[in-house]
Amino acid sequence: MEELEKKNISSTSMKEEEEEEEIDNSFVPVYHSFSSQNYHSHVASGVDYLSILASKHGDFLLSSAGDQVKVSELEGKVVGLYFSANWYSPCTKFTNLLVNVYQQLKECSNVNLGFEIVFVSSDEDLNAFNAYRSSMPWLAIPFSDLETRRALTQKFDVEGIPCLVILQPNDNKLDSAVIKDGVELVYRYGVQAFPFTRERLEELREKEKEKHDSQTLSSLLTHEARDFLLGHPSSKQASVPVASLKGKTVGLYFSAQWCIPAKKFTPRLVSVYEKIKQQLEGKEEEDFEIVFVSSDHNQVEFATYFETMPWLAIPFDDPTIKALAKYFDIRGIPSLVVLGPDGKTVTKQGRSLVNLYKENAYPFTKTRVGILEKQMDEIAKGLPKTETHSGHRHELTLVPEGHGGGAFICCDCDEQGYGWAYQCLECGYEVHPKCVKPVCRGPDN
Ligand SMILES: [Zn+2]
Ligand SMILES: [Zn+2]
Repeated sequence: MEELEKKNISSTSMKEEEEEEEIDNSFVPVYHSFSSQNYHSHVASGVDYLSILASKHGDFLLSSAGDQVKVSELEGKVVGLYFSANWYSPCTKFTNLLVNVYQQLKECSNVNLGFEIVFVSSDEDLNAFNAYRSSMPWLAIPFSDLETRRALTQKFDVEGIPCLVILQPNDNKLDSAVIKDGVELVYRYGVQAFPFTRERLEELREKEKEKHDSQTLSSLLTHEARDFLLGHPSSKQASVPVASLKGKTVGLYFSAQWCIPAKKFTPRLVSVYEKIKQQLEGKEEEDFEIVFVSSDHNQVEFATYFETMPWLAIPFDDPTIKALAKYFDIRGIPSLVVLGPDGKTVTKQGRSLVNLYKENAYPFTKTRVGILEKQMDEIAKGLPKTETHSGHRHELTLVPEGHGGGAFICCDCDEQGYGWAYQCLECGYEVHPKCVKPVCRGPDN
């Protein structure tokens, strides 16, 4: 499960370290925002996109070997414009994946000549650019051509990196044919996404929907050679048939001992699990269970970690683990996917819901979350509009869900949150309302 592991990126960049935690914390890709104040629109719509790749100083790109390649050689190809920078770890992480996809596509004889990627760098200097480019087997806009790099950023409204914009060969004058969420698509579908046309993507979405509509616990959790899960070591049952989970609400807990944010979250989930089990005691018609889906490095780490959990597990290194991570599009761990009694997906936001509502989140359904959100809104009405928080020097303002772009990472407890938050309007610092520690200013203090 390589994509879930922390990449040990050797870089002298200071920025790298600050962002390390975000990789594991994220459910959604983390984007770095450009400051776009310096970019003025000077590229008219409807211009042949390939002509924008050439500057007035030259009409060539750099190959991976450093040779000049004429822009006109891209004629007739599906072209991916890859906006990226080596100082930002989500970029380097995605580059590794993209290289893999690119090489696989280049090995297909029918794709090879019809596809190319062009790197549009936001690196800090030429050395950084050269170092980063050497890891890429495709073409690049020369670093010195700042004008073209800016024009492309402006033309395609690139607001964050990594960003992959796909241009179609026959429609390269049409804005409507441009696909801007190439990063998302490559993460989701890999080589399958090619040739990135609207038709192809519709087809993939349709297929995926069919798969999810017909999913069952057994289609998700078993394979030909295994129809059971591991019982908890302390329980008498060494193995539990997957069939016995039928009719229960089931949480799939993607985690690993090496995962830093999980060190806080796992004990929290254990406590919530036990409280939910207590609530359900004596109720015959419903039950709750969690299944640990491990991406531990080895059997020993798996075993010692599983030891701390009161629920079930898929055996270490089982092939369904990778399949589940891909199927549910798990980008970071820990992550909790909740399945309903019919085996269908209820939510992939189990971790946030546990953090926000604890055991009250059960059974994690839309109806339940709707009720909880209403309650939160009521509570928020009674909260002060602004707060001073001892962990931050600016005043914080109470903001509703979506104010800062949806999900956020609480700067106090480091956990994912959504819904109401106290946010610093000056620098974006954000905390859960429950995490605010007011600065005492009274005369008695
Ligand atoms: Zn918090
Ligand atoms: Zn601030």
